[in-house]
Amino acid sequence: MTTSRLCDLPTSYIKGVGPALEKRLLSIGITSIQDLCFHLPIRYEDKTKITKINELQPNKKSQIQGEITNCQIQFGRRRALVCTLNDKSGHLTIKFFHFNATQKSSLSIGAKVRCYGDIRFGRTGPEIFHPEYKILKALTEEGLPKTLSPIYPITEGLQQNRLKTIIKDAVNLLEDAQPLEDYLPVELNAALGLADLTKAISQIHRPRPSSLRTYENNDFTSGTKRLAFEELLAHRISMRQSRNEFNKRVAPQFPKQNSLLKNFIYSLPFKLTNCQTKVIKEINDDLTRPYPMLRLLQGDVGSGKTIVAAAASLRAIGAGFQVALMAPTELLAEQHHMAFEKWFRTLDIKVGCLSAKTKGKSRENLVKAISDGTCRFISGTHALFQEKVHYHKLGLIIVDEQHRFGVHQRLALKNKALRMKISPHQLMMTATPIPRTLAMSAYANLDNSVINELPPGRTPVKTAVIPDARREEIIERINAACTNNQQAYWVCTLIEESDVLQAEAAQATAEKLSKLLPKITVGLLHGRMKPAEKLKIMEQFKTNDIQLLVATTVIEVGVDVPNASLMIIENSERLGLAQLHQLRGRVGRGAIDSYCLLLYHAPLSVNGRQRLAVLRETNDGFLIAEKDLELRGAGQVLGTQQTGSTNFRIADLNRDSDLLEIARDSEKIIFRDYPESIQPLIERWIGGKKDYAQV
Ligand code: ADP
Ligand code: MG
Repeated sequence: MTTSRLCDLPTSYIKGVGPALEKRLLSIGITSIQDLCFHLPIRYEDKTKITKINELQPNKKSQIQGEITNCQIQFGRRRALVCTLNDKSGHLTIKFFHFNATQKSSLSIGAKVRCYGDIRFGRTGPEIFHPEYKILKALTEEGLPKTLSPIYPITEGLQQNRLKTIIKDAVNLLEDAQPLEDYLPVELNAALGLADLTKAISQIHRPRPSSLRTYENNDFTSGTKRLAFEELLAHRISMRQSRNEFNKRVAPQFPKQNSLLKNFIYSLPFKLTNCQTKVIKEINDDLTRPYPMLRLLQGDVGSGKTIVAAAASLRAIGAGFQVALMAPTELLAEQHHMAFEKWFRTLDIKVGCLSAKTKGKSRENLVKAISDGTCRFISGTHALFQEKVHYHKLGLIIVDEQHRFGVHQRLALKNKALRMKISPHQLMMTATPIPRTLAMSAYANLDNSVINELPPGRTPVKTAVIPDARREEIIERINAACTNNQQAYWVCTLIEESDVLQAEAAQATAEKLSKLLPKITVGLLHGRMKPAEKLKIMEQFKTNDIQLLVATTVIEVGVDVPNASLMIIENSERLGLAQLHQLRGRVGRGAIDSYCLLLYHAPLSVNGRQRLAVLRETNDGFLIAEKDLELRGAGQVLGTQQTGSTNFRIADLNRDSDLLEIARDSEKIIFRDYPESIQPLIERWIGGKKDYAQV
């Protein structure tokens, strides 16, 4: 045995790993023996015991064994090899649609077989299709494993069984002779009473069946806890490090004195809320520093984030810089454009709007105005950060509703910003409050500002959960509201993310509703309409020329019509809580009593009922986000594209929330006293995936 560290030993050190396999392993980020040891199981299979056939439960993976009493080839719609197995308690059928001659001859009458697979109940009793199986000499329990069988994340061309063997060899290496390097400070280990690292790793690859139960019941073994802690810590360290790097970049410093900002705030028809004033000050402090701001502004729907964005913009523009405001939808980008145009006109600031639909001459002109600096404020979709758009002097990037952007868009933005010599400041805004656990993990690299008060004069929205069978009643209610000078939204939702289908559904609903409501003008808004059309409809809704607006979820973000007081959401059981809360935020913006009716299609599942009840009971976006996380898990809450940073190998934000604060404090200790541990920990847990973990 050599004395080199496991992180320096290549995978080819393991017998049977040649250049081809080495390359495959590399493709999932595994280069060393240590990497193999830290490639953790995603789940386990329990092959430690045999279940009697008469005790089998459907849809559960189980292991049985018995003697073959019948074996034949069935010629039905599909040819199949069908055997009957008997274990004295009962019989079970195994079926193979693909089989070869060797298989056929080994599975003959009298053979003793052990099988593992998904149990289903067919016409003749329990069956397994394509079981894993093994021919036995005798029907004894000999050879049953004592530990659970791990299942690993794999990739194309790398088979589960192959990977299992390699990892087993790697883990054997450390059990035999060479423990893993422990990078956690001794005093931290002692203070927290953490389990031994090498033991924890070998345990996680081959746990006893009893430890699986404790793991699932959240009362996890100390080995699991130790690994989860180290992983959370490594993520925090990596984020802190990249933030430190970011802080070394040079940003423009904007002077504090600025008459533009004063004039703007003076011109507003209302007084800023205390929270708005506080956040504007936090941002102003950031903007006077020589390194870039990286700040997240969280504020519930309708809390008035746009004014804050405008105030920050004026600091940049006043200092001679440009501002780019990126929104997730064209509709929102266009609305921002109109709002800022109105605000900035009197200040003599030229604004523009750039989206995928800005075409031809107008695009050319705009791109030119951006590059020569005449256009000072540009709102738009992610089109703002395409290769071909060059800024004259970009000083501030604002991302509205940042949670709606995928990892790739954020990465594009980041890379564009990194290529600039002078780094623009960045302000991210979100109306989907980030639960504490995510704030302490996935968003740990951002500074945080919170607006937790609404402008005065708003009345909380009342929410009801109603089966869609009661549609007529609801239509009557719309009629009453709209003939009483109020306005309503009707939101159509579909499971499919298809623009076309969504548009069709909304169109059909709009037609039906305008027949049923002859006294009311019904408008239609969906993502397939031209920008000009959309704006026209929005304008008509704003001026109350349209009383009922039928729309797809395009209105989810940013739409602001204070006279609308009734919101109907179809198929609400299919949407996430945060999304429903956003939609509901379109009403309750004025002084009139507002209502949100969540329609569902019966029957509603228990979980569905619980989720909708959360909305009925609270208007607090933070609470809703916490519940959403509890009921759906982090990946879902952040959206599939965004899970880069929450794809933990072992940590689980719900289960391990108690570790987050300890990880935060430990991060500080490591940076202060043990800087030599920083790199090894990042290398071990994050390695090549770092870029994605930090956008
Ligand atoms: P969001 O935080 O959801 O982006 P907006 O910025 O769109 O909220 O603001 C919602 C509405 O509240 C807008 O009509 C805006 O003009 C209004 N508003 C913002 N701040 C105040 C305030 N301090 N007092 C009264 N109304 C305000
Ligand atoms: Mg907004």
